[in-house]
Amino acid sequence: MSHATSAASNLPISRQTKQGLYVDPQALSAHLPALAYKDNALYIEDVSVKQLAQHYGTPCYVYSKQAILDMYQAYSDSFSALAHKVCYAVKANSNLAVLGVLAEAGAGFDIVSRGELMRVLAAGGKATSVVFSGVGKTHDDIEFALKQGIACFNVESQSELALINNVAARLDIRAPISLRVNPNVDAKTHPYISTGLKDNKFGIAHEKALSVYQQAASMTHIDIVGIDCHIGSQLTEVAPFIAALDKLIELVHSLQEQGIELHHIDLGGGLGVRYIDEMPASIAEFAQALLPKLQELNLTVFFEPGRSMVANAGVLLTRVDVLKPTAHKNFAIVDAAMNDLIRPALYQAKMAVIPETLPTHGLDTEGTQPWDIVGAICETGDFLAKERLLTLATDDILAITGAGAYGFTMSSNYNSRGRACEVMVSGDEHQLIRKRETLESLYANEMLWQKN
Ligand SMILES: *Cc1c(COP(=O)(O)O)cnc(C)c1O
Repeated sequence: MSHATSAASNLPISRQTKQGLYVDPQALSAHLPALAYKDNALYIEDVSVKQLAQHYGTPCYVYSKQAILDMYQAYSDSFSALAHKVCYAVKANSNLAVLGVLAEAGAGFDIVSRGELMRVLAAGGKATSVVFSGVGKTHDDIEFALKQGIACFNVESQSELALINNVAARLDIRAPISLRVNPNVDAKTHPYISTGLKDNKFGIAHEKALSVYQQAASMTHIDIVGIDCHIGSQLTEVAPFIAALDKLIELVHSLQEQGIELHHIDLGGGLGVRYIDEMPASIAEFAQALLPKLQELNLTVFFEPGRSMVANAGVLLTRVDVLKPTAHKNFAIVDAAMNDLIRPALYQAKMAVIPETLPTHGLDTEGTQPWDIVGAICETGDFLAKERLLTLATDDILAITGAGAYGFTMSSNYNSRGRACEVMVSGDEHQLIRKRETLESLYANEMLWQKN
């Protein structure tokens, strides 16, 4: 079960043929902590996917509680030599049950809005282990977070710093802050999820950071407690993290020379996951690379992992509604769509699609054809996967893996589609953790025009 002890080999699990991409479902499931085929049927922990699809209907997100806890533990264990805090990035998956499981395990949280802070509190998390990131914090966000007593604001601009000082002064509280430094390193990831380059909107340029810290030190209601960076998401190599850390360490030393002492260094999130054949550094490798430099610093270390904590703990289950072979392409129209899972449409993300029931022989099975797995939404960008070699029939249940992060949280009601339900599994138990949205609820906040 544990990711760290998985015996999966490092051979590629996908094969690009002339017809399309074949992803070996059994080899893939061997890499995914919560999934396994038993007698050709897919299970998440000890619950059959077929049973889940029948019980809850589709589309349906399913998360393994144990897989989430194992990832948290992997971070915790890998950095046990240091004072550290793992602040789970709520935006990856903000379901209350997910937050509750992590809060109980002792995690802190990284939030980017007041709404996320309210979720953390509702799930039993403590404000004192919350860090507040994001480029556009408003007066109301800051006031609410200050009153709750959050651990730190990760400040992204001088005007935000001034605003925090003003709000804190009015409340007669001192606001704990870090500056989010933009170290100008290339995370070598998709441009939309790269955040640490100088032309990104995030953070304060590292050349300017020292002077902004001096400004902060002179403010009446600001407590400087740390330094922060977050350079992007789905990073597969450790080198960019090291490059960013080196720039932060330089700054920490310059600050010490100015008499500014910090309590913590926050390295953000961003560690990548294996969706198909990506080979991201493991949490242990990531820790090994960073630990020597961090130990010298003698600061508490914060991390803000999102994707790596939950992506592979989750699947999106969907049913094949219509098979539509055409002269050029075969379309499998499923009951999930881009409104449920936007990563393929937004980032050209390749996610694996595996069947609930294994065909009798992998690639050679009669009827295996390239299929575009698409939703029913009126957009050509509405696809979940393209040219996948699969053996399909209508009413088949498919699992889209890696869907635990940036899946449900990025879903929408486009085309007046209710959002999917969410389910958590633990051992042989399963429970609804978010009801499927009713169609009436989609327009419940709307009013007909009533003037003249
Ligand atoms: C999104 C985000 C994270 C989490 O990133 P992952 O790639 O999901 O680990 C952490 N910190 C900040 C500031 C973020 O915006």
